[in-house]
Amino acid sequence: MSNTKYIFVTGGVSSSLGKGIIAASLAKLLQASGFSVTIQKLDPYINVDPGTLNPYEHGECYVTNDGAETDLDLGHYERFLNIPTSQANNVTTGRIYQTVINKERKGDYLGKTVQIIPHITNEIKRRIKILGQTGDFDIVITEIGGTVGDIESLPYIEAVRQLQWDLGKENAIVVHLTLIPYLAAAKELKTKPTQHSVKELMQSGISPDVLVCRTEHHINDGIRRKLALFCNVTEEAIIESIDAETIYDVPNLMLEEGLDKVVLNRLNLSAGRTPKLNKWNDFLKKFKNPKNTVEIGLIGKYVELQDAYKSILESIGHAGAQNEIKVNVHSIHSEDISHENAAKQLKDLDGLIVAPGFGERGINGKIEAVRFARENNIPFLGICLGMQMAVIEYSRNILKLKKANSTEMDAQTPFPVIDIMEDQKEVTNKGGTMRLGGWDCKIDKNSKAYEAYHTELISERHRHRYEYNNDYLEQLTNAGLKPTGVNPDTGLVEIIELPTHPWFVGVQYHPEYKSTVLNPHPLFVAFINASLEHKKK
Ligand code: GLN
Repeated sequence: MSNTKYIFVTGGVSSSLGKGIIAASLAKLLQASGFSVTIQKLDPYINVDPGTLNPYEHGECYVTNDGAETDLDLGHYERFLNIPTSQANNVTTGRIYQTVINKERKGDYLGKTVQIIPHITNEIKRRIKILGQTGDFDIVITEIGGTVGDIESLPYIEAVRQLQWDLGKENAIVVHLTLIPYLAAAKELKTKPTQHSVKELMQSGISPDVLVCRTEHHINDGIRRKLALFCNVTEEAIIESIDAETIYDVPNLMLEEGLDKVVLNRLNLSAGRTPKLNKWNDFLKKFKNPKNTVEIGLIGKYVELQDAYKSILESIGHAGAQNEIKVNVHSIHSEDISHENAAKQLKDLDGLIVAPGFGERGINGKIEAVRFARENNIPFLGICLGMQMAVIEYSRNILKLKKANSTEMDAQTPFPVIDIMEDQKEVTNKGGTMRLGGWDCKIDKNSKAYEAYHTELISERHRHRYEYNNDYLEQLTNAGLKPTGVNPDTGLVEIIELPTHPWFVGVQYHPEYKSTVLNPHPLFVAFINASLEHKKK
């Protein structure tokens, strides 16, 4: 039997309180105290995964090494813990039901009525325990999406209740994240919403072990006493979580509040060790004390929503911190850029990123942004669709193939410089069928990419259906757009560069999924450095 301990993180009062950040910060403290920790997210929606969701609905879709399309919180987990997650770290209601219904069809429950309890809850419990059973983790933190009281989360809360009985309370605890609102008119912090949300949990048979209270003002002893009294929690287990300057401050704030100590105590684990956060704090020091500043343009079509490009924004921050550079990101809507206004819109930027994406909307603006970066020697990083736009731009403006396009945007284009991948042609289902996850790439030693990575063989994460069309390889290469990274098995072009330009790199993969606080991604680091060089000129 494995003696993995389980921590459940639930949320009350309101969504968007930052459960993912609290879970990741707690995990960081426990990891820094010598425990091996992983974090799992349970999402109560019926989609099998977020891969088919529009970023406006759900923010970015994060991709793991093993090719799972997952919730963006997994990105936080990886960035904080510096260890990869996998499909097992993200489970949705859709996936749970799909498994149970498939089993029912196979006859696994023959003769029985299939019900939420026990069949759905058993499947939830099985998914929770999978990570513990690998034997790789002392502690598994499971974040439950949504808010306590939502109809959709009920089976998850019930599964947690049962697990506390199955495993014993010292092996499975609940951390409840809640909001303490401040009423400006009354100049008062209010505990009532929290009392209600804890009551809701208790009605489901769960008494939280720890309350983490999001607040804009410090909570005083009076508030702590009141919360403890009404919510069945000891005073030391009332943790204040005040608004932070950056999410990367939260582990230290939780350390000051003693979150790790209470949790270890409740789990009967020795709380004698002090978390070693030296490297983390080195990062923070550089992050907060920049010596230089650069202005980076992020060209995309979901720029209204910060979460849509979460991993890219975080990667930029990590990369800047590495060399003590503050990066101001200017999100620019691709639909607002035209041939006429590109110069006016982009002239003050030190570097340009053209973002990933799908579909026709906004692509002309992306192509114009590429052209502007290329013609004006501005450092350019094209990611996935951004790389494909660079190939199209070069084909149209240098090879003079005016109608060059991706067959994603124009199925009839006479010059399909970006075309659907061979093995995608037969694919009809949309969910989980792209080229996903880690694939190898061999880098040309004479390239900007090699200067960044210092290694020839890399593996990066992918999420696409279209690719560089090798029928145009010779023409494009001869005209100066060089393929500098290629999949060693299939010949698929992964990286393109303009050797005559100070820093112009397009990648078919998503480097942003692999950048962490302790390991900023080399391509982002090189790009930000090149942007600083450009600024200095
Ligand atoms: N839409 C493009 C493709 O499927 C690019 C995808 C992306 O940017 N992630 O190939």
